[in-house]
Amino acid sequence: MTEPRGLLAIFAHPDDESFGAGGTLALAAAAGNPVWVLCVTNGDQGGKPGEMEVDHSLDPEIRREELRCACREMGIAEPIFLGYRDSGMEGWGAPEGSLSLADPAEVVDRMVAIIRRLRPATIVTFDPGGVYGHPDHVACSATATAAFREATAEPGGPVALYHQALPKSRIAAMQASMAEERGRSGDSTPPTEDDIRQQQAFERLARPDEDITTIVDIRPVLDRKLAALACHDSQMRGRRWDDPEVRAGMEQMFGHETFVRVYPEPRPGEQEQLPIGLEWQSR
Ligand SMILES: [Zn+2]
Repeated sequence: MTEPRGLLAIFAHPDDESFGAGGTLALAAAAGNPVWVLCVTNGDQGGKPGEMEVDHSLDPEIRREELRCACREMGIAEPIFLGYRDSGMEGWGAPEGSLSLADPAEVVDRMVAIIRRLRPATIVTFDPGGVYGHPDHVACSATATAAFREATAEPGGPVALYHQALPKSRIAAMQASMAEERGRSGDSTPPTEDDIRQQQAFERLARPDEDITTIVDIRPVLDRKLAALACHDSQMRGRRWDDPEVRAGMEQMFGHETFVRVYPEPRPGEQEQLPIGLEWQSR
């Protein structure tokens, strides 16, 4: 049996992949690794392009198409969808067909089947807290981690698992550059209750800096990440993060992507600059 190859990123909604790991996915692809995104829900409780309002029954095709666009910008394969409905934020009431109401064992089985077919070496998913606690992020982390554990035990299974996580030290810097961006764009709309709750969750769920094993310098492909983010127009509330005027701030905010290596378990204090299991010298 041939060795497993490449990187499979398992995330909950279209846009999670670009925010959390878009640069790493683009770098891995540029070095010649096959790279795929498995998107668990359709993200159909997102916003509308250019609008502040949340549309709780957004046409799922809008966000699927945005993810296809992002994958093209990152230079990776067409996305794969599991097709669950977006569960929405806590307190919205999860709709029928959403990930929150799905049987986790069924979700894991479906992920394992995809891992067996693609045979990636390395899997990336959310941190257990889901970066800011969105119920779909938390469910995605748990099921993808379980799927990895099942698949890695099989011959030719994946060899490494990473959780995408933000270190505590990044949160303050992130909030400062977002405030600056709002000031610059003249956006005076006050943050919604969900926004405030989300900010508090970011702070609460960020990982201590010493937990972060893997800091990837993605500045060589920052433009690809920003172009991928720009594809997710329905989520940007009119912001353009690929605007050349804000590029310095973007480099500050998005120039490095951070992960916790879960498997193989790191030695105490181990740090690395690139995920293992992949080729990093282009051939
Ligand atoms: Zn998400």
